[in-house]
Amino acid sequence: MIQLTNLPDQGKAFVQTLDDVLLRKSQVGIDVLRLDKIHTIISGNKWFKLKYYLDDALKQRRKGIVTFGGPYSNHLIASAYASRIAGLHSIGIVRGERPKSFSQTLSDIESYGMTLKFASRDDYGNEHFKTTIKALYPDHLLVEEGGRGRAGIRGAEEILHLTAFDQYSHIICAVGTGTMMTGIVNSSLPHQTVIGIPVLKFDQSNSNTVADFVTLNASSENFAFQYDFHFEGYAKKNKGLLGFMSDFYKRHGIPTDFVYTGKLFYGVMKLVGDGFFNPDSKILIIHSGGLQGNRSLPEGQLQFSE
Ligand SMILES: *Cc1c(COP(=O)(O)O)cnc(C)c1O
Repeated sequence: MIQLTNLPDQGKAFVQTLDDVLLRKSQVGIDVLRLDKIHTIISGNKWFKLKYYLDDALKQRRKGIVTFGGPYSNHLIASAYASRIAGLHSIGIVRGERPKSFSQTLSDIESYGMTLKFASRDDYGNEHFKTTIKALYPDHLLVEEGGRGRAGIRGAEEILHLTAFDQYSHIICAVGTGTMMTGIVNSSLPHQTVIGIPVLKFDQSNSNTVADFVTLNASSENFAFQYDFHFEGYAKKNKGLLGFMSDFYKRHGIPTDFVYTGKLFYGVMKLVGDGFFNPDSKILIIHSGGLQGNRSLPEGQLQFSE
């Protein structure tokens, strides 16, 4: 394993119990696993999903990794920083044309030493694009967007072991690629239900790429999805969501991001209010980090200070 300083400190993750009238009334207990606390840049689940790719790249004596993401990608910024610490070069293929001026996220990514290449949305979504990139950079390990794949799942299988997780009836997480959720399902116990809240908009309950991915890669079937909390699609938001996030911070001191964990906590609290969980349910919510994504918001849209 990579032995360098300034990597995330998994020991900094802790469990926070929520106290709330709604929860007391519903007799539902909620604990939050604060993965957002392990590192400021290689935040949350991204570290778990990346570590074995970096390990593979080092073992295979590659020069570095090449990976993919949008201009505000938590995965790209985490990859850039973690690669640098691991002594690996990194190439980031960014979705969309090169912007005239860089977002804070892109500037940071570049300052951590990642070489940025921009790909038109057509190229980026093209099936053969990955093959082209692989051929262009044969001395770099290709890591799929979001760390999707075996090594990502393997790292995510470690998340639950940060706490005494056997006490929970439900474990709930946000879902992008489904890599983290698959790792969580694989390490969960038979009496537990893992619920994923997709942040992309899918046709209700029909087969979709994310559900297919989890079903294909999970070693058990104790999981389900709640499809109603996407807010019209990936990185889409409205006043209701941002208002919830500010209020949730005021009540519990937990910052969330509007792409992933804002939708996650909104969804769980809505389900509790709707009586979805039986009394005495004990829920563990995975706070998967990703707070830097809020930097794409105009100032003042979130109130995260007391
Ligand atoms: C990337 C990310 C996710 C999604 O993880 P997947 O493994 O792709 O499903 C969830 N939460 C946060 C904060 C993220 O940055």
